[in-house]
Amino acid sequence: MKKVKILIIEDDQAIIDNVSLILEMGWDSVEMIPARLASRGLQLMESQKPDLVILDLGLPDMSGFEVLKRIRLFSNLPVLILTVRGEEKDVVLALALGADDYIIKPFRQMELLARIKALLRRTSQPEEDLSIKAGNLYFGRSITEIYKGNQKISLTITEGKMMHCLMSQAGKIVSYKNLSEVLWGEEYPGAKQSLKVYVNHLRKKLENEPGKPILIQNLAGIGYLLDVLGT
Ligand code: CA
Repeated sequence: MKKVKILIIEDDQAIIDNVSLILEMGWDSVEMIPARLASRGLQLMESQKPDLVILDLGLPDMSGFEVLKRIRLFSNLPVLILTVRGEEKDVVLALALGADDYIIKPFRQMELLARIKALLRRTSQPEEDLSIKAGNLYFGRSITEIYKGNQKISLTITEGKMMHCLMSQAGKIVSYKNLSEVLWGEEYPGAKQSLKVYVNHLRKKLENEPGKPILIQNLAGIGYLLDVLGT
């Protein structure tokens, strides 16, 4: 089995140790590359070529948001945010800057492991069928590029996967469970809340009036539905 290389940019040694222990349970062979400073993390990213980055938002020398911005200038590598900042605006900002997922501390061990596995699986999966269309929505050259008519809109991998799923079942209700399985491989407690954050972000990018969504509709307690009739 291929060795998994994970870079963790985190200033709290106890968290580094804890995450390392959890990940060693998950793989026969995992190499943890710790960086307690953002600047060191950015260097290691280029020299070590990890498979995934776990990034803390509160770092001594630079904000995690800034690190994320810099990473996205040269890399599409999966980035998982690990943070104590659970406020929706922080999460939304991290996702907007290109984070693929986030976990709020204190976290459940199995959840962290499942999320990391899902992220790695997502990256190694063959490309989705990008020829799929719904109304005036269609994908460009990758899952992170969607067109609304002539307008090109950038999505994160997670947003793209979610839109792909909704578009492939346009006009039908896609349950929270179904969406969670597509994104994370399984439903976990709190998945519904995470889905809501991604949906709100997609609405901001795709709806004419994000506050009065008509494209991505929520059927409370059931799931989401992509309604392309109005597009
Ligand atoms: Ca910190």
